[in-house]
Amino acid sequence: MQTQVAPNLDNCLPESELSDEELLGSDAVPALVQDALIWCSLHGLLVGDKDGKNSGVTPGVGLVHAPVSLLPTPFPRPLFEQAVEVAPIFNELVDKVSQDSEFLFSTLERARKTDSFTAGLLDIYRATLDKGIKEDIRLGLHRSDYMLDKATGGLLQIELNTISSSFAALGTQVSRLHRHIVNRAGARSKLEPQNVPENASFEAMTDGIAEAWRQYGDDEAVVLFVVQPAERNMYDQLWMADRLWDAHGIRSVRRTLTEIEKDGALDGDRTLSISGQRVSVVYFRAGYTPTDYPSDTEWRARLLMEESSAVKCPSISYHLTGAKKIQQELARPGVLERFITNEKDAALLRRHFAGLWALEGEGSEEIIEKAIADPEGFVLKPQREGGGNNIYGSDVPAKLQELQGTDGLAAYILMQRIFPPVKKSYLLRGGEWSQQDTLSELGIFGTYLRNGEKVVINQPAGHLLRTKTASSNEGGVAAGYGVIDSPYLT
Ligand code: ADP
Ligand code: MG
Ligand code: MG
Repeated sequence: MQTQVAPNLDNCLPESELSDEELLGSDAVPALVQDALIWCSLHGLLVGDKDGKNSGVTPGVGLVHAPVSLLPTPFPRPLFEQAVEVAPIFNELVDKVSQDSEFLFSTLERARKTDSFTAGLLDIYRATLDKGIKEDIRLGLHRSDYMLDKATGGLLQIELNTISSSFAALGTQVSRLHRHIVNRAGARSKLEPQNVPENASFEAMTDGIAEAWRQYGDDEAVVLFVVQPAERNMYDQLWMADRLWDAHGIRSVRRTLTEIEKDGALDGDRTLSISGQRVSVVYFRAGYTPTDYPSDTEWRARLLMEESSAVKCPSISYHLTGAKKIQQELARPGVLERFITNEKDAALLRRHFAGLWALEGEGSEEIIEKAIADPEGFVLKPQREGGGNNIYGSDVPAKLQELQGTDGLAAYILMQRIFPPVKKSYLLRGGEWSQQDTLSELGIFGTYLRNGEKVVINQPAGHLLRTKTASSNEGGVAAGYGVIDSPYLT
């Protein structure tokens, strides 16, 4: 197993932290829950209700407060600050890797054989290269996700999202909710509002889109939000569209991939238009999962956009760079260092790498045997995004045995399982609250914008904490196991 350099952060982990109940006193909870529910409703901290008719289709119908934690979750300040510090280096890494088409093709080549989704993305990438499509303006709105590692006291990266990084808007609102709740709890609680850090992910991510729009330089053009046909997390997206207009005077339109194939067109100089409106920035909140492409129609829509001169967020090469297979390849000795040549920067990134292994090639037999013998120590991951795809525990040996000796192995990676500290927290969902054993995942957003050789933006862009019941493996917020949370820096 790859050894981690443990930062010297004794006593930083919140293992001995008080439970929410101890922080607050249980008699204070019902009134604060009421406060939180009201605050969410009045401040647009909302999602579509899964029981509401058309709640993923028609705005303003079937709304419910977003699943949230009542209180922010203690998180070691030095580790939080480290993760913020490396965000621009991860941005740079994505940009560098995305320019090495040789590396992307060779790393993903074997996965394409058995994974038609990865194959579809690679085909589009190949088509844009063959046509000599040049992208002067590149916009990255990323989110790097981490968990605290109890064993070493460090912070390890789960993955780096380069497409559809969600909850920038609702995450900002949760930080504000938590300040409000801590203030309302007042002297009864042991929490101080100033330890809930400012979180401008909403503004920073939206303003990244606005700056890309400006760099493109067409005052009449719109921003195209590529969305799923039914999206209960629409308010997180609509907040951004609202700010584009309010803060920047930029109009936007929402379309599904199916609609884009019908309404979209390219003119002679590759300008993209949708229903006759010119588009300068395409912002993907769909297109990251095979179910977004039920037929060739949706693949044609993706290709149309990739071949256009509009700024794609992300471009197909940024999208591919976010693949789990690429993450694993970068962790191999010397590979990251080819892209990040500054030794100090490379070391800062590596400090956050967990153990990652390929299932084909040299040494893979050995790691497969290890994972079969100790499945609790590993997570088996396919080339997928969006949650709910990984394989854990007793399912790992069965899957590995099924894959052994087949090409299918190349479409998966093995990752060291990370065990973060467990804490008792109050979770709010559908107007009800409960106290649960939970664990948390920290996301640090990053924005990157380059125009030709000029780097216009490269900065950390706020944060997101997601907290889930300790007993669930994945715990997606939408799937009903996770909530949106914010860190309380200790
Ligand atoms: P996705 O792109 O689908 O979000 P992730 O790599 O983030 O894929 O995995 C989904 C979830 O699975 C994470 O949010 C986390 O809860 C859990 N998970 C992933 N990798 C690990 C790991 N190495 N150790 C522990 N939990 C993990
Ligand atoms: Mg992901
Ligand atoms: Mg994830």
